[in-house]
Amino acid sequence: MKALIILLAVLAGVWLWRNGRQKALDARKPPKERAKPDGGVQEMVSCPVCGVHLPRSDAVAGTQGLYCSAAHRQQAEG
Ligand SMILES: [Zn+2]
Repeated sequence: MKALIILLAVLAGVWLWRNGRQKALDARKPPKERAKPDGGVQEMVSCPVCGVHLPRSDAVAGTQGLYCSAAHRQQAEG
C-alpha cells in the first residue's frame, strides 16, 4: 500500500511538473493573431508607366509619383 501511495505521489509530481512546463512554454509563444500595424489593409497605388497596381509600401518613390520599379521611375523621370 505504501508503494502505491509513493507511486501516486511521483505521478502527481510529474504531472504537475509537465503542466507547469507547458504553461511556461505557452506564455513564451507570441500571440498567434498579431495584427499588422496597418490593420492588414494596404493602400494601393498604380504605376503611371505600366499601370500595375501595387501596395504603397512596395512602390518606388519618384519626384513625380510612385512607380512599380526603379526602371519605370527612370523611364518616366529620366
Ligand atoms: Zn511600372
